[in-house]
Amino acid sequence: MKHQIEARTPAGRRLAALAEEHAHDFAQRAAEHDREGSFPHENIEALKRNGFIGAPAPAELGGMGVLSVHDLMVAINRLGRGCASTAIAVNMHFDGLWAQTRNWQDARRRSESEAEAVAGRLRAVVQAKLVVCGSVTEAGTTIVAPLTEARRDPSRDGWIVNGRKIFGTLSPAADALGVSVRLIDGDAAPQLGMASIPKATPGLKVMDNWDALGMRGSGSHDVLFEDCFVDASLMQSMGPWGSWPPSLLATLGTGSACIAGAFLGIAESAREMTLESLRTRRKAPSGTLLAERPAIQHRVGELEIALETARGILSRACARADDFYADHFPSDTRSEQIHALMRELIAAKHVVTHEALRAVDTCLTLSGGAGYLSGHALSRLYRDVRAGPFMQPFSPIETFEYLGRTALGLDPDAHEGSLPKAKEG
Ligand SMILES: Cc1cc2nc3c(=O)[nH]c(=O)nc-3n(C[C@H](O)[C@H](O)[C@H](O)COP(=O)(O)OP(=O)(O)OC[C@H]3O[C@@H](n4cnc5c(N)ncnc54)[C@H](O)[C@@H]3O)c2cc1C
Repeated sequence: MKHQIEARTPAGRRLAALAEEHAHDFAQRAAEHDREGSFPHENIEALKRNGFIGAPAPAELGGMGVLSVHDLMVAINRLGRGCASTAIAVNMHFDGLWAQTRNWQDARRRSESEAEAVAGRLRAVVQAKLVVCGSVTEAGTTIVAPLTEARRDPSRDGWIVNGRKIFGTLSPAADALGVSVRLIDGDAAPQLGMASIPKATPGLKVMDNWDALGMRGSGSHDVLFEDCFVDASLMQSMGPWGSWPPSLLATLGTGSACIAGAFLGIAESAREMTLESLRTRRKAPSGTLLAERPAIQHRVGELEIALETARGILSRACARADDFYADHFPSDTRSEQIHALMRELIAAKHVVTHEALRAVDTCLTLSGGAGYLSGHALSRLYRDVRAGPFMQPFSPIETFEYLGRTALGLDPDAHEGSLPKAKEG
């Protein structure tokens, strides 16, 4: 593709090249998985075989050493061109691995022994090619106020988890799930917890019920937890229940910029197939090529502007994230510093997912009725691209509120949708 965002590091360029090869292969089966609503297990297996799945882990721990947010986004962008469901599924796994790698970099600055503890966990994931998905969304509450409950079980030094999550993308292929919980420990105020729960844990059930408008191959099933025992070593307390821990906001905000690459990829695919058809289709009585018609050229011009806008803001925001993370580490980054970066990432995610939506809509207009047929790839891309604005950490409406509040100098945490912190005290 002539106009595209390019990776900026050697490791990122290797990953992007691999992603392009995989995308070509995944594209052959994307329509079938969409039609059947089936999970593309074979795609994840292929990404395991060549180590792609461990890309964000450090090279010295067995990963591909792609720590650049920008370049991870480029890889997700390329996958998105072939199979958007696979691209968003891989992004969920990358989010967690990237965050662990950041913790390892952070720990290394403090002590060898602390770094080795994180390194051990990372090595275990990368060497066994384990897949981890993120399960934080629940019906009827916000991300930071999960109703899924973890009660302390002192008799076994662990927690008992009960609840139900929705939108568990990648859950069919996951070996473990990153699950947000409400920690209940005696009379102490509830805390927000993040648990890493092996899928084989008794009482954990992936419901196999994902049936949606688009992203039908993403395996975003509900996940049920019934008296699941979670060892204390697999539970992390993140701070007060109902407030954003800066590190979680950073992970989800950064992940949302990377996943925006998938939606750009959908739009780029739509553009390719649409331009190809405009260059070759003629209509009677004049027999003029569709590409020769000024009104068509005008719409193609609009399409180009939408895509260039998306590429520009996404590449810039992800490059800014790389600059930020080069000298800010999870343990010593203040909340306001994270918010300054998040403003850019969240605005970029909003612009990219909406420009991608507009671009695919324009492609559908240009394709005429043909693209509306279920068998046409554009109709799938049109449904897939619609998911973009829903992606975390903020819904489209919350995005405006978040950006407005931070611009006005108000506490972004203390909004209508969060816990009434002032009243709590
Ligand atoms: C294809 C797909 C894959 C996904 N994969 C995952 C995944 O792997 N893991 C995961 O955890 N989640 C995942 N999600 C969930 C997603 O990231 C969002 O969290 C989810 O769609 C938003 O929650 P909701 O739909 O329940 O909307 P709600 O949060 O219930 O919002 C309902 C409405 O209220 C508005 N609203 C909400 N809060 C406020 C507020 N404070 N102020 C004003 N308005 C508000 C919203 O904009 C919306 O219009 C996925 C979603 C999709 C579509």
